[in-house]
Order: sequence, then structure tokens, then C-alpha cells
Amino acid sequence: MRVIGVESAVRLLSDLVALPTVNPMGRPHAAAEPVERPAVDYLVNLFGRYGVEMQRLRPNPVHESLLVKIAGRRRGPGTLLEAHLDTVPAEDWGETAFVPRLQDGRLFGRGACDDKASVVAMALALVEALEAGARPALPVVLLAAGDEEHTQTGIRQFATLDYPLARAVVGEPTRLAPIIQHKGVVRWEITVHGRSAHSSRPELGRDAIAGAVRVLRHLEEHERRLGETFVSPWMTGPTVTVTMIHGGRTYNAVADECTLSVDFRVLPGMQPAGSRDELISSLAALGLEITHGEVQVMMPPLATAAEDPFARRALEVCRRVTGRGDLEFAGAPYGTDAAWVAEQASTIVLGPGGIETAHAVDEHVEIAEVVSAARIYHDLLMTDA
Ligand SMILES: [Zn+2]
Repeated sequence: MRVIGVESAVRLLSDLVALPTVNPMGRPHAAAEPVERPAVDYLVNLFGRYGVEMQRLRPNPVHESLLVKIAGRRRGPGTLLEAHLDTVPAEDWGETAFVPRLQDGRLFGRGACDDKASVVAMALALVEALEAGARPALPVVLLAAGDEEHTQTGIRQFATLDYPLARAVVGEPTRLAPIIQHKGVVRWEITVHGRSAHSSRPELGRDAIAGAVRVLRHLEEHERRLGETFVSPWMTGPTVTVTMIHGGRTYNAVADECTLSVDFRVLPGMQPAGSRDELISSLAALGLEITHGEVQVMMPPLATAAEDPFARRALEVCRRVTGRGDLEFAGAPYGTDAAWVAEQASTIVLGPGGIETAHAVDEHVEIAEVVSAARIYHDLLMTDA
């Protein structure tokens, strides 16, 4: 029996969209159950029929992920299929966000594209193999992850399990083009310290805001210089962006403190920690009194080589299944869960839908793309790279 098809894709995706799994994004979570629980229960029920090994993972009380494990024809390092169950909020969308709507071959709803389309395509690929009683080439682990949209605790908890992996496919909306490289990121606060004084006698103080302006200019210059060294055919250069600024206490006093929140995006080939260290030591040349807050977020870049055999095979399969012979590898400026497993496995990001509809009102996915994605995942599972 063939499992993968329009009917099964519409049914599973409609079911999952109708089960809200909104990430509170750091705000208080009132419910007693973790955010992803309804979708985890749904998948447990789906895979329960096949007697496969499953494990719920709880990185914290707010989130839950599900691991589904299937034996391969061979033992040893396996294939990870990963997609996330949580979605961004839908307050701007209103009541219909969780009422799946099928129109002109597209399914609309919060999470329809990001990322339940990938979850469904991966689930269908596995169920197709299970129904046929066919063993994948390598052991397979499906991680339906929680908390991708906020702090990635789902994939990070999985990474601590040291599950042996040879290859990993992370499902995100890529329009079925394999992404092999994306940027990494490191975020922290830079605080410039000054000395307050009455603003009628600013010469008696040391203006932290004026110091912060010099830091800003330095960051721009640093970004420009990095851009001369690090380039990629698939994405823009490294960026150093100040995303928040806080300084000063009152109208009539020189500011004694000014804090800049920095979002530093690094290219493949750069290490976030080392790049941050270099930036910090270059700031010393300004002669300001500066302190650096602890790292808030650090995600490595994805740097799979275009020659990687698994990536090349994935590209071929994508071309064949979609009929788009001109399909090429892609890169992305944003980070994904792929970064957390890429060190140990040949890793690509690949999934149905387009990033432009993700997080937006009227988020949707073409059902035909979900079906194609399921066929691509199935092919990759069943064959050696
Ligand atoms: Zn996503």
C-alpha cells in the first residue's frame, strides 16, 4: 500500500494544524502541559500501530520533543530526520489561524508551512517504509522537536544524547532545494562605562553614550573588514548588528552607562566564540572602559561541503522528484537546528514551503510540495549515500 500521497498529506497536516503548539517565546506558559504535547500525542498514536521505539524528551517543563527510532538494514551511525513541532504565535491572525483551510492545492494555517509540513512529510516517509515492512538503509531517528522558535532546547537536548549519526536532514521551508550552509550567530551585551556629572558641566564627567557611538562606528568598521575576508556564494557577508540600546538615567546628567545588544552573524568557516573574542580585543584600541556580558545565544554555522556525498545525493533526488533539473544547493542567512548536529553528521536543511510565508498571516504550503518532500525523504532513508 502506498502511503505517501495528497490525501494522507492533507489529513495529517490538517490534524496537526488544528492542534495549536504555540511557543510562548519566553513569556509565561499558563498550561500544565508542555506546548508541543498535543502534537506529540498525535504522533505517538500514529507510530504506536507499528510497535516502534519512542521516547518523549523534556528539556524543561514548557517543552517536549518526541524521538521515534527505527532499525536499519545495517547497524551503526544512523540518519536523523528532524523537524519542529512548535510554532510562532498567531495573535495578529485571529481565530482562523488554527482552522486548517484547503484552497487551490494549498493548506493554510499557523504552522502549515513552518514547520508542520516538514513534520508530516517525514512522518509519511517513515510510515511508508513501516507499512511496506521495508527497513531503511541505516537506523533512523525522527526527532519531532520542541522549542525551535525560541531557544532550540529540543535539538540541543537531543545533541547531548550523543546518538551516533552519519547523516541528518533538518526539515525547514526551503522549497525543496537543499541548504548546505548557513550563518551562525553569537549575541551578547556590550556596556560602556562613564562617569556622571551635571549636564551643565559635562566636562566633569565621561559620557558613556558618546563612548557607545564610537563603539557603534567600530562595529561597522569591523563588519566591513570581515566582509573583505569572508565571502560566500550563497549568502551575504558577516554582520554585526546592534539590535537594542539602553543608556542614561535622566535629562540633566551625563550618562554613566550605555549598553548595546549585539547580534553577530558569522559565515561558515568562522567560529562564533573566536570571532567574538577577536571583536572584543579589537575594541580595546578605543581606550574606553567596556565590559562584556555573558553570551546569550551561540549557534555555530552550518558548513556542509558541496562535495559531501550525502548532500550531492540529496540534490540528485530533489531534482528527480521535483522534475526541476536546474535545482542547486542553497545557503541561508538565518540559523536552523541543523547547526547543532552538523559537526558529527553530513547535514542538510530541506523541506516543503517557502520561508516567505512562515511566521506570516496566511501561512500556507503547497500540498504537492509536501508530497514531494515525503518522497525525497523516503528515498534518502532507504538508500546509502
Ligand atoms: Zn521553522
